[in-house]
Amino acid sequence: MSDFYKKILENNKKWVEEKLAIDKDFFKDLAKGQNPPLLWIGCSDSRVPANEIIGAAPGEVFVHRNIANMVIHSDMNMLSVLDYAVNALKIKHIIVCGHYGCGGVKAAMGNESIGIIDNWIRHIKDIYRYHQTYLDSIIDEKERFNKFVEINVKEQVYDLAKTSIVQAAWKSGQELSIHGWVYGLNSGYVTDLDVNIDSNEKLDNVYQLKF
Ligand SMILES: [Zn+2]
Repeated sequence: MSDFYKKILENNKKWVEEKLAIDKDFFKDLAKGQNPPLLWIGCSDSRVPANEIIGAAPGEVFVHRNIANMVIHSDMNMLSVLDYAVNALKIKHIIVCGHYGCGGVKAAMGNESIGIIDNWIRHIKDIYRYHQTYLDSIIDEKERFNKFVEINVKEQVYDLAKTSIVQAAWKSGQELSIHGWVYGLNSGYVTDLDVNIDSNEKLDNVYQLKF
């Protein structure tokens, strides 16, 4: 077995001991149930660990991660997580957190075929096309990449608001806000993009569902 593999098993034992030293009922209490106020939709990138960067303890964040933090309205995995978070856990906030330097977003800007992931990245390419005039006007490639990361997050925030799950929750008067963040790999800080949606009124008319 590799040293890394052995190390992570040992780390787990140490972690349990540390938690129990502070609170002997830590795991006993967690086992009773969860009531997290937040759903996190982030990138699978190993450098953006949801709980760690916001100082959240076990039980505080319900997490969904995929390549480039996408909200694809036909993705059963995402929809199941969203439905459970909104309708069973009654979470109050959803944060879509992208990050600068995202490999998925970078790949979407290029033309190289990487394999089956091309079909996932297609969704990000569509977003480039929606904003092509603006993005193509940014001469500096790094700057264009950064802006594309931000635009992608904003689009995913709106895509969440377009889902029947979120709109039905708003219709029933449930408190639910959706936010967009971008994490800086080289600073550790998140930037709040200030797209805060708590009703379907900001959506284009064609997406507004009547119940
Ligand atoms: Zn990423």
